[in-house]
Amino acid sequence: MTAKLIDGKAFAATVREKVASHVTRLKEDHGITPGLAVVLVGEDPASQVYVRSKGKQTTEAGMNSYEHKMDADTTEADLLAVIDALNTDPAVHGILVQLPLPGHLNEDLIINSIAPEKDVDGFHISNVGLLGTGQKSMVPCTPLGCLMMLRDHHGSLSGMNAVVIGRSNIVGKPMAQLLLGDSCTVTIAHSRTKDLPGVVKQADIVVAAVGRPEMVPGDWIKEGATVIDVGINRIERDGKNKLVGDVDFESAAKVAGAITPVPGGVGPMTIACLLANTVTACCRANGLAEPEGLTA
Ligand code: NAD
Repeated sequence: MTAKLIDGKAFAATVREKVASHVTRLKEDHGITPGLAVVLVGEDPASQVYVRSKGKQTTEAGMNSYEHKMDADTTEADLLAVIDALNTDPAVHGILVQLPLPGHLNEDLIINSIAPEKDVDGFHISNVGLLGTGQKSMVPCTPLGCLMMLRDHHGSLSGMNAVVIGRSNIVGKPMAQLLLGDSCTVTIAHSRTKDLPGVVKQADIVVAAVGRPEMVPGDWIKEGATVIDVGINRIERDGKNKLVGDVDFESAAKVAGAITPVPGGVGPMTIACLLANTVTACCRANGLAEPEGLTA
């Protein structure tokens, strides 16, 4: 079998188009422009790249982008004051604090100081609880992107066996909740799981979110399964710097029914879903109907 390629880059473009057309309607019909504020503390080079990219895509979708750059030695009190101001600013519908924060800042405290309805990363403890109990919440962007691709490929996920490898708060756990919400039978595997190959072999859907280059080989995958590779790992191969996922793409693509590539799979969906969450937050804040197909 040769797997169908799930093209995250193309799919993300369609999500961005939906977002942009909803933004146009919000402006024309209601005079509202959604706004996303991104707070960056320090000068981590990877974070700077992400923040630039988020700002660019936000304005390209017709929304307002507000960037708050703060020094690496910013105090907790100063950062909390910025978040407090954004929480009450009616022009700001989404707030994102770029992680990781410098070590002297308490990440949990900072994230939980964001107004839950503006928490477009979906990391606030209220949103975690709402998602876990099947209520309307802000959903973390990467798992939301994975869910959208799975729904697009399969239609209904009901009754499917899904294995999520990785139990992080950012990807693994919310991914499992979303799959459960779509009536999958869900297994969360992690570093202590016994017989991981045997567990993965049962899966109609495999979501790999580990951070170990090409850890999942094709012979772990059930024939015809759908493989979503969240991993982004930089490796040296043949003297070149390369990005690879957590799945060994070459061997897995021979067995799977469908697979996301790295790069060009889950990655582009993450920012697209951040834009989607910002529009959703804006609609909720204004008591308007949410855009269809952009929420969980
Ligand atoms: P994390 O380090 O927080 O969690 C990794 C998880 O993998 C842990 O729960 C751990 O139990 C599990 N694990 C580690 N070794 C294992 C093993 N040998 N067998 C089974 N499970 C094992 O990582 P994260 O933040 O969830 O990210 C995972 C990967 O996804 C990373 O490569 C990261 O770069 C990538 N990522 C991509 C995006 C995107 O937009 N595409 C977003 C977030 C994370």
